[in-house]
Amino acid sequence: MGRVYNFSAGPAVLPEEVLKEAADEMLDYKGTGMSVMEMSHRSKAFDDIIKDAEKDIRDLMGIPDNYKVLFLQGGASQQFSAVPMNLMKNKKAAYIVTGQWAKKAYQEAQRYGDAVAVASSADKTFSYIPDCSDLDIPEDADYVYICENNTIYGTKYKELPNTKGHTLVADVSSCFLSEPIDVTKYGVIYGGVQKNVGPAGVVIAIIREDLITDDVLEGTPTMLKWKTQADADSLYNTPPCYGIYICGKVFKWIKKMGGLEAMKAHNEKKAKILYDFLDESKLFKGTVEPKDRSLMNVPFVTGDAELDKKFVAEAKAAGFENLKGHRTVGGMRASIYNAMPIEGVEKLVEFMKRFEAENA
Ligand SMILES: *Cc1c(COP(=O)(O)O)cnc(C)c1O
Repeated sequence: MGRVYNFSAGPAVLPEEVLKEAADEMLDYKGTGMSVMEMSHRSKAFDDIIKDAEKDIRDLMGIPDNYKVLFLQGGASQQFSAVPMNLMKNKKAAYIVTGQWAKKAYQEAQRYGDAVAVASSADKTFSYIPDCSDLDIPEDADYVYICENNTIYGTKYKELPNTKGHTLVADVSSCFLSEPIDVTKYGVIYGGVQKNVGPAGVVIAIIREDLITDDVLEGTPTMLKWKTQADADSLYNTPPCYGIYICGKVFKWIKKMGGLEAMKAHNEKKAKILYDFLDESKLFKGTVEPKDRSLMNVPFVTGDAELDKKFVAEAKAAGFENLKGHRTVGGMRASIYNAMPIEGVEKLVEFMKRFEAENA
């Protein structure tokens, strides 16, 4: 069997070119006679890999010199704890709850201090992004926290919240490197890479240097203290070497594709094909407020749970994998990350049209 069109929300599709290159280098990485999986993280070859990866992500995102780039482990979920442990000097933080991941981060922060939900879209099943232009943010809040792209519900901030001078912390797991961003607007940007950048097991955290200190909550594990990792250039202990190597290849692939502006154009084009169809379809409809639609995750329903099930099954048989919606939402979700080719979305829409005609 050949490759399928993989609409998984994560771990998700990676560029075929990257996978082929990795396959070619599997047994002998650049004349070292070993796989990247087998080499010391202190070796010259790996040092080049991680330094190159950092340089490339800095170029792609335009990361200023006063920000550190850390390659960490533990998934995005571990940063749900690391963020309050490293930043809650006043034991207070403002959270904007726009979905399950934001809610998990918010609940985790409550274990360490006074986490306040300053806005939420729970009233309409997280189908929109609340107005964040004038929130009631506590004066002494150490930071304002957002999940920038809501993987499960398919919403995305089109404008960052007005933090009223507070540090902005963003989980960008599912929109990482999907479009250009202004790094200087954030104190901390982090994401698990398995949605858009690489294999599960790596979290990239981009942190403004003044936020990396020894002044962390008492009891913070050494490994969760950002300073430990920053002082050691992400090599305090053995990092997820192979994952970092693949991320590095994906960075080079994005550069070759034209960088983040080109990625954005490519992602907008794909998303438009799908949203335009959802807007005209009599059977399928999108579940998100149009102004807040994500370019990466597109949830949709027929309105009939049995028909949804039939669609997912028939789509799978036709080579469109992982279209089932998240277990908490039902329906369908097509995740169309950077590495999903335009043909994948075009063919999916053709298939949806056929299904609609057959089930009218
Ligand atoms: C997938 C996801 C997570 C959880 O990632 P893990 O690496 O499994 O901990 C957190 N936030 C967002 C936005 C996600 O999409």
